[in-house]
Amino acid sequence: MSEIVGKVRGSRQLAVYSVARAEHLERLALRNENGNSQVLLYGSEYYDWDSAKQKELPAYRKGLAFAVFAIILGDPRSVEINEPANLPALPRAIALVSAIRTSNYLLAWSGSRSRTRIVCYALENVHPRSSALRKWNALTGGKLPPGPFAWLVLRLVRLVLSQIDRIAFGSPESMELYGAIATRRGLPRQHRLILELPNDCNCSADTPEKPQMIFVGQFSERKGLPILLETWEQIRLKAPGQFKYVLIGIGSLEKQATLWAEDRSDVSIYVDPARSVIHRELRRSKVLYLLSQSTDHWQEQIGLPISEGLAHDCFIVATSGTGLASWLRLNHQLVVPEDIAPADLADQVINKMTAEWVGEPLYSLPNMHSREAANEWLHAPHSNSTTNIFDGKVEASFEEKS
Ligand SMILES: [Zn+2]
Repeated sequence: MSEIVGKVRGSRQLAVYSVARAEHLERLALRNENGNSQVLLYGSEYYDWDSAKQKELPAYRKGLAFAVFAIILGDPRSVEINEPANLPALPRAIALVSAIRTSNYLLAWSGSRSRTRIVCYALENVHPRSSALRKWNALTGGKLPPGPFAWLVLRLVRLVLSQIDRIAFGSPESMELYGAIATRRGLPRQHRLILELPNDCNCSADTPEKPQMIFVGQFSERKGLPILLETWEQIRLKAPGQFKYVLIGIGSLEKQATLWAEDRSDVSIYVDPARSVIHRELRRSKVLYLLSQSTDHWQEQIGLPISEGLAHDCFIVATSGTGLASWLRLNHQLVVPEDIAPADLADQVINKMTAEWVGEPLYSLPNMHSREAANEWLHAPHSNSTTNIFDGKVEASFEEKS
């Protein structure tokens, strides 16, 4: 325990999340390898948690009181909190913001140490008012008017946003949403759009006999599994024997996916496989699909499978909801409406595969994952630090390969 307290107190960068997932551990490992002394405190673990990895890292499951004391008694220069529009994490964000502001005030008064900066990375694209309305209706069964609750939630989101010193947005949709939520004073002065893009993965794999198409993700309606299977069936009919099809995932439609794959010899399915299998199949694939379907209260933020497909040189077929839609269009990938007919989509993919697409990706990726570039900027001593930062303009960020 005292060792943990010592590490937390000695840390200059603190990340305090409500829920942590495996990806956060991978990022934390990378950051500490690169010389940052970052500590992660979190309230609960996502289902993909990696306990073995956690033991090697300064990542600790701690309650809110511990985090507050770590801020007051330690000397963090910056604390990253969950984004304000993440409603389940909002109470924690309010408590942390209050603790940091109080601590800064007392320290300024006593002159004993430099102030702590509040920083945040944002991807949310659904208005907190609609999330609050849905939550209230679910709690009360629609028997009580939701107006006052939604009003209060929106005020609290605004309050937290107004206290953030530096915020990076991972998508244009997210920046637009927070611009609409902010008070008349606008977004925090230090804000930046750093479009979330991966860097190339350095793994390798053998080349399959036929061009391979892949889906990686939840087997679910909202990730577009039914429309994907219909599209692939159309491609199999229109271009028989030309392609291989791979399904990787887990989820409520697992049975449907397994049954569909079962009697088709050109289809392979892997249910919740090891990461090494995912890398191998992504590397073998020419085309990655993510046909996300928005609902009243959900819209794809980025889509981790799209990011992973890009990192493995795949051609991307996605629906227009993803925060990468503009970038994908500008970089000659296929972005289609969510309600596209599977037969139309099949024709478009076959045309791309046979006419324009020549086997090399048509895009360039950053040298560093842009989430890491965002992290560097968020925690840098000065906001004008420009190391490894893209300028935020989708159009100007990357050169096209000719
Ligand atoms: Zn890889």
